[in-house]
Amino acid sequence: MHCDDNTPSSPAPASGGYVGRFAPSPTGLLHAGSLVAALASWLDARAHGGRWLVRIEDIDPPRCQTGADAGILRQLAACGLLPDEAPVWQSQRHTHYEHALQQLKTAQLAYACGCTRKDIEAEWTRMGLVPERHVERPYPGTCRRGLHGKTARAWRFALARFTEGQSVVHWHDRRLGAQQQDVICSVGDFVLRRADGLWAYQLAVVVDDALQGVTHVVRGEDLTDNTPRQLLLQQALGLAAPLYLHTPLVRMADGEKLSKQHGAPALDLSDPLAALSAAASHLGLPHAAAHDNLADALQFWVRCWRHTYN
Ligand code: GLU
Repeated sequence: MHCDDNTPSSPAPASGGYVGRFAPSPTGLLHAGSLVAALASWLDARAHGGRWLVRIEDIDPPRCQTGADAGILRQLAACGLLPDEAPVWQSQRHTHYEHALQQLKTAQLAYACGCTRKDIEAEWTRMGLVPERHVERPYPGTCRRGLHGKTARAWRFALARFTEGQSVVHWHDRRLGAQQQDVICSVGDFVLRRADGLWAYQLAVVVDDALQGVTHVVRGEDLTDNTPRQLLLQQALGLAAPLYLHTPLVRMADGEKLSKQHGAPALDLSDPLAALSAAASHLGLPHAAAHDNLADALQFWVRCWRHTYN
């Protein structure tokens, strides 16, 4: 890849209102995999002359680790990845999610569901489908036409109603190209508010991306198959859809995705440039050999990124 390394940085193209974001869940500190997503979203924003935001996705308190939010912000700062606005915390934004759910209820696009996990499995068995271990089964739609005496637990998106059965979503990923998913077959009427009262990621992420004016989402490839659900929710709520780019995952020796749940070690930031170089190389960017300081190396990668993803 040729990145005009010896010429001064060309001015960033006009932003056209570009807003990007990095949205970590504070379930632990950043690891080598999350740095790839953070760096890619920062580079994309800088390459477009846009703004870059950080949103702490702490809507699932049992999974959050005390102090991880501040730790993540320190890690980003050590890597020279500084947000253009003060970060926001999802735990402070319940009213926005409540408002969106209310909007869907009013449009009859959300319904109460009284099913437990066991009920859902029983329904699948009744339909002659053997549940596979570790495979998420689409919701069979049991409560679509009422609770039938059950107590309301969660709120679900009335996907079948909204799509009138045409639930194949076609979309374009800026790295992966043309994508499609039949959302009814793969997930069914998905949850908006969980039985424990917590907001579902799908609803919160769509509401926040829209309210923050996010135009470009750059995040890890493990989230690719969530995108069709988010596109449908955006349509249902009358929100603009951002463009999406999903970055390659960092895998462990056994092929498993590097993740906090699998004990990925926190980034070693005694040498931030080395950590960033590994992330850049994972993104297919050249080694910033001639740049021995963080700021220069980041500018070099911005120029490289512009060649690849503009
Ligand atoms: N909070 C999510 C995570 O850490 C990312 C959400 C997103 O980028 O849409 O996996």
